[in-house]
Amino acid sequence: MKYVGAHVSSSGGLQNAPLNAKAIGATAFALFTKNQRQWIAKEISDEEAAAFQKAMKECGYTASQVLPHDSYLINLGSPDEEGLRKSRESFTEELRRCDRLGLSMLNFHPGSHLKQISVEECLDRVAESINMALDATKNVVAVIENTAGQGSNVGFAFWHLQRIIEGVNDKSRVGVCIDTCHAFAAGYDLHDEYEWNKAWDELDNTVGIKYLRGMHLNDAKKPSGSKVDRHESIGKGEIGIDCFRRIMADPRFDGIPLILETPDEAIWPDEIDMLKKAAK
Ligand SMILES: [Zn+2]
Ligand SMILES: [Zn+2]
Repeated sequence: MKYVGAHVSSSGGLQNAPLNAKAIGATAFALFTKNQRQWIAKEISDEEAAAFQKAMKECGYTASQVLPHDSYLINLGSPDEEGLRKSRESFTEELRRCDRLGLSMLNFHPGSHLKQISVEECLDRVAESINMALDATKNVVAVIENTAGQGSNVGFAFWHLQRIIEGVNDKSRVGVCIDTCHAFAAGYDLHDEYEWNKAWDELDNTVGIKYLRGMHLNDAKKPSGSKVDRHESIGKGEIGIDCFRRIMADPRFDGIPLILETPDEAIWPDEIDMLKKAAK
């Protein structure tokens, strides 16, 4: 079974996210549980948590179909002590929010070395941050997203994700989310069928496919290896439709949220419909 959806808005209340997802025919969705551009958020009240869970139930979603995304400000591999402290605190709080909503995963970008520490040091710092956050919370799985490798972001090569996971003590609460646009920009040429197969083999041989907890389905505006993160609508970019058809027909991607972060929200219902049909 494939779960397909998009990163929907929760403005006006968290309970609006499942309603917005349902309205576009989604069987999965992503959301921010707080303003993604701010460090601090008001705690989720009992009423808000109850309203969210009621909407989840009414719309027919379970936690395994939802992949919340954390704030853009968080850098769990920050070389700066103050930045690292703030990031760890905020990330821990985000895990708590997900748990409070009855959600089981939190998707995040690993971090950036800001040219002040090595890639390896940064990755190890991310793992340490995850350990601290998992120790302070329960239930929710920390889902590391691969990046395009823009700027000083780590996590663009699959071995980066592997190294982080190796440093995490509780392997039952860590996973990965692969973003097709980011992988392509990082040099995994998902347009080409041979390279497509090679990329998933590499993921399995490094990280292990069992750690795959979600996917972001995005076409790419820039060529493979560009390290530029610019999403495009499915089939309209450099990756092309065949990559997504292959994903939808492949049982390795069953039972996890497959989330569109494509730029034209108006065509999300069509994109979701097209992807669902490709799964049959
Ligand atoms: Zn993404
Ligand atoms: Zn992106």
